Amino acid sequence: MYGMIVHGGAWDIPDDIVDAHLTGVKKAIEIGLDILKNGGLAEEAVEAAIGYMEDDPVFDAGKGSFLNRNGEVELDAIMYHGTLMGFGACMCVKTVKNPIKLARMLMKENEVSILAGSGADAYAKNQGLEIVDNSYFVVEREKKRFGELKTKNLHPSAFFHHGTVGAVALDSQGNIVAGTSTGGTPNKLPGRVGDSPIPGAGAFANPVAGASATGYGEAILRCLLTFRACDAVEKGCSPSLACKEAVRFLEEKTGMFAGLIVLRNNGESGFAYNTPRMARAYLKNGKIVAEV
Ligand code: ASP
Repeated sequence: MYGMIVHGGAWDIPDDIVDAHLTGVKKAIEIGLDILKNGGLAEEAVEAAIGYMEDDPVFDAGKGSFLNRNGEVELDAIMYHGTLMGFGACMCVKTVKNPIKLARMLMKENEVSILAGSGADAYAKNQGLEIVDNSYFVVEREKKRFGELKTKNLHPSAFFHHGTVGAVALDSQGNIVAGTSTGGTPNKLPGRVGDSPIPGAGAFANPVAGASATGYGEAILRCLLTFRACDAVEKGCSPSLACKEAVRFLEEKTGMFAGLIVLRNNGESGFAYNTPRMARAYLKNGKIVAEV
């Protein structure tokens, strides 16, 4: 048995980019499922699905990410292996084309689990990962947004239109792996780290379930949203109810917004969000469903 669920951010996704989101999450899960179908590992499926969305400029991950206050892109990613209880994460990287690949690499490291900033960029280069100039990540749409944020003095939340990406996969060997990758929030302070690369916040997995989150990073951090949901599933809760309860808890305690996906080791998936929309793709009766 195998299974997978992916998300492409939970915000007020405008109508004109809904189709691009649906196409992106559908393609990402197809890539992941193809790997799983052929006996590949959950970590390979998560890396490939998230890697695809990092390359797709529609999402706030890799190319197309929001710019920070200096007009640069800083990226965060995590991969969490539930069966092995191991994770790898990178923060504030500026030159690693696919931060999820670095996160997976760090998941295999004995010496270190998290690398940040220039140390993370240097490690990735030494390990032979693809390195790009920061300008590779910067697209026209985000340059325009950056300009508007500066001149109109708007709150960055007025621009929360697209988001972080995430995936959870179960392979035929029973491994559960979760991953998340992001460019963070628009106009963020250089060096700002949200929930995405933090274990238990942006992603978590235990031997029974894996989860990936998106939304207001500072609120997700306070609630350890993905840990909360996976723990509930381990104690017998369904993935769907675990997601609803975790998002309800976050809303009640912080008044903020988030979206969450969970996959259990029987292939059952669940999701919940309190934002207007969340892009996601999952399996229902063996068929891919993509929704916002
Ligand atoms: N949670 C991410 C962050 O705060 C943003 C997002 O999910 O869109 O960095």
